[in-house]
Amino acid sequence: MIVGAGHAGFQLAASLRQSGFDGRIALLNDEGHLPYQRPPLSKAYLKGTGGPDTLMFRPEKFYHDQHIDLIVDRAVSIDRAARKVALASGAPLAYGHLVLATGARNRLLDIPNANLEAVRYLRTLDESEALRHRLTAGQRVVVIGAGFIGLEFAATARAKGLEVDVIELGVRVMARAVTAEISEYFQLKHTAAGIRIHLGVQVTSIESDGDKVTGVSLNDGRHIPADLVVVGVGVLPNVELAAEAGLPVASGIIVNDHLLTADENISAVGDCALYASHRFGGSLRLESVQNATDHARCVAARLTGKTEIYDGMPWFWSDQGPDKLQMVGLTTGYDRVVVRGDREQGQFSVFCYKSGQLVGIESVNRAGDHMFGRRLLGAHGSITPEQAGDPGFDLKSALT
Ligand SMILES: Cc1cc2nc3c(=O)[nH]c(=O)nc-3n(C[C@H](O)[C@H](O)[C@H](O)COP(=O)(O)OP(=O)(O)OC[C@H]3O[C@@H](n4cnc5c(N)ncnc54)[C@H](O)[C@@H]3O)c2cc1C
Repeated sequence: MIVGAGHAGFQLAASLRQSGFDGRIALLNDEGHLPYQRPPLSKAYLKGTGGPDTLMFRPEKFYHDQHIDLIVDRAVSIDRAARKVALASGAPLAYGHLVLATGARNRLLDIPNANLEAVRYLRTLDESEALRHRLTAGQRVVVIGAGFIGLEFAATARAKGLEVDVIELGVRVMARAVTAEISEYFQLKHTAAGIRIHLGVQVTSIESDGDKVTGVSLNDGRHIPADLVVVGVGVLPNVELAAEAGLPVASGIIVNDHLLTADENISAVGDCALYASHRFGGSLRLESVQNATDHARCVAARLTGKTEIYDGMPWFWSDQGPDKLQMVGLTTGYDRVVVRGDREQGQFSVFCYKSGQLVGIESVNRAGDHMFGRRLLGAHGSITPEQAGDPGFDLKSALT
């Protein structure tokens, strides 16, 4: 049984069938839609006019044909001794192996007036759908948080003619995830597009006139007018189901390098899983499509007899306005960066090094560098900083 039908849950069900698994697959889906892709929710879907069907991984027929029981329900508790999951609808469901793919939920803002109707979040299809109907030219929106989702939303809203202010507590945009070079580039681009970015400040309250949002107050005393507030301040992993069943959790459901919890009959995958990383050492909890789908494939392989250690190479992308950012590797703790390409032309990559070893590449509109990085780092390879910085050096020559 799989709890959660997001990227990880869906991929697991599909991969199990592809690998020849012929047992029952119950896929619990607590959202009112067929399983769908999340990345377009802050990108093409938000911008466009296409319906929810454009987001679905597969049509309903797929689940029928593959004998995947897509059950619209919510798991409320796990009885590990009896190997049963209690559902919100009441009926318990038995499992042979249970996979928790419960993902994450929005971190909610805890300030006065945060519960007003015009204070919005962006994680689900319903939230994106509601937001895109509000993107009317001339409206004023304040975005709280300059992370990937906040900036993707801000760029789309601006392109649709809204007045956009972004409020960020950090000293640069996307500070927790990218190098200063990438932050600086995107800050300049968004500013040039007319987005006002306010760094090093915090929203202390949402201002209103009755139920209507009128703006936000900042901790430096300023007031910024707004008709709509969009909050992108991160997520919290959905670990409660596991914790209440007595499974160890920390900043995610704790799993080993095979993605197994402390219970040999329960695995956890995707955004909710804090896994022991064979490749990087220590524990990692990542929020990306790559992580969710590679986790799912690893567990599907194990459940069909091909046990392997999870060794995925992290990669990620973010579309902001006309620019595509792609990242590969883990750049935490880098001590040197080398820029390859042309920042002025908006086509460059930042190669990140730690103790002389390449640990990650961030690319802006340089898909070739990104793909190179995936192949090189995926195979535990490296190139020297001098080679990375030499425009004449043929990256392909480093791939064996
Ligand atoms: C707007 C947006 C844009 C993004 N853009 C990118 C991007 O460009 N690139 C990228 O790599 N990643 C992106 N991500 C991140 C990526 O979508 C997530 O990492 C991915 O969805 C994680 O998949 P998951 O299956 O682990 O979790 P989720 O997709 O969160 O799915 C978990 C599912 O489990 C359900 N669930 C939870 N508890 C229960 C329960 N008790 N019973 C039943 N069901 C339950 C949830 O409702 C949800 O449907 C984006 C995310 C968002 C929100």
